[in-house]
Amino acid sequence: MQTVSALVAYAIDNGMIKKSDVIYVTNAILALLEENPAKETYEKPKTTQRTLRVFLDPLLDLAAEKGLIASNSIHDRDRFEARIMDALMPRPSELQRTFEEHYAQSPEDATDYLYDLARNSNYIKTDRLKKNKHFSVKTAYGELQATINLAKPEKDPQAIKAAQTEEGTYPPCLLCKEYVGLNQDFKPPRKNHRIIQLRLNDEPFYFQFSPYVYYNEHAIVIYRDHVPMNLSQKTYRRLLDFVDQFPHYFLGSNAGLPIVGGSILSHEHYQGGHADFPIDAARVLETYQYGSVSIEHLLWPLSVLRFKAKDADILVNVVDRFEHIWRNYHNESLGIIAKTGVRHNAITPIARKVGDEYQMTIALRNNVTSEKYPDGVFHTHPNHQHIKKENLGLIEVMGLGILPGRLDEELPQITRFITGDEALQNIPKSMQPWALELKESAPTKNVLEFVYQEAAQVFVSSLEDAAVFPHTEAGNKAFNGFIQKFLTT
Ligand SMILES: [Zn+2]
Repeated sequence: MQTVSALVAYAIDNGMIKKSDVIYVTNAILALLEENPAKETYEKPKTTQRTLRVFLDPLLDLAAEKGLIASNSIHDRDRFEARIMDALMPRPSELQRTFEEHYAQSPEDATDYLYDLARNSNYIKTDRLKKNKHFSVKTAYGELQATINLAKPEKDPQAIKAAQTEEGTYPPCLLCKEYVGLNQDFKPPRKNHRIIQLRLNDEPFYFQFSPYVYYNEHAIVIYRDHVPMNLSQKTYRRLLDFVDQFPHYFLGSNAGLPIVGGSILSHEHYQGGHADFPIDAARVLETYQYGSVSIEHLLWPLSVLRFKAKDADILVNVVDRFEHIWRNYHNESLGIIAKTGVRHNAITPIARKVGDEYQMTIALRNNVTSEKYPDGVFHTHPNHQHIKKENLGLIEVMGLGILPGRLDEELPQITRFITGDEALQNIPKSMQPWALELKESAPTKNVLEFVYQEAAQVFVSSLEDAAVFPHTEAGNKAFNGFIQKFLTT
């Protein structure tokens, strides 16, 4: 079993296990594979200059041959792989201790340790993520980014249903802590999944990385219990407490309402990471002063303000007051309906710490629907939904469009249509009007590049659809009235 010993050597070289673990870990993997040991199984090979897949694929093939993997589908292979990698992972208590030892060196050291472990254990499948396409587009708001996500399927109704509370199944949702080490047939494989305990605002939270990594060190911070998302003053305290503990990260929360929120509203959670976003470079249109808090109105497709203060408590109170004023703001001529039995106004807050200053960037959201816009007045309008139909969540607000994998086929198809190599009827119906429109304005060279750029422009238009105060004369006038009301009451 040379491959097993090579895999074990890989784990030693990447700091996942220690030499004193070799016999135990080797035997654990042999047990999974129902293989017998030999003397050389326990010997470390001289070189391990290879990627993880080189060791894993033959082991998965062997398991499939032996009938140990039910259907040999990707899901079942992933499940078996997670079981193998779990043998190389520390127990949660050991992981927590090691994380804290690293944290004593520096917060960055701790998150580096955890991120490396998540990648080395293939919990984050780096090889699949490499297939994602990234591109950027220059706009009036600066350079915005988009990524075509091929690693994770576009949220089909079934996936959304699976993410929501399923009656009679446990754990109730994908964010629940009970997923740690879980190996259950109809759930995503999480045998090698680990989380770290945190305290935020003196409340129990967990920290983990997203396996889909939409940006560098894409982290998820999860409340201990399965309770619904609920934005309140506590949220701002938790976000600021987190950036105090991990100043190299941002942490933000989706609005706690449907349409303008994230895909999982049933479990309190936040998203963060070690990354800058286009919104961080947004131009400031105007700066207002409110006591010791400065407030910047940003030139951004959505309506966004950035609150800055050196005192976290003051910032929390000011943001909370601001949210209350926004919650009750009503402007029928702009379509901002504060309540129709339920409330519609919400915010998307994003916290950062820059030097000794706290920042809270806030996007104003509203989830009202109308006859004209049944999906949402401030949601991607129907004429832009051919690029992305899903909710515009926290990541999109920051200027990174997570676009569906289908575009990887459809954009080249439209390119071929423009160059005369594809018939219109072969293009999905929802894409045909756009394809005809692009054909009119397409250049003769670099057509594919042009189509990508236009797709990114449509994403920017989606963000503009979500602006409660558009950058129009009426929008600017209403915004000024709203901000004055906040500053003077
Ligand atoms: Zn849950």
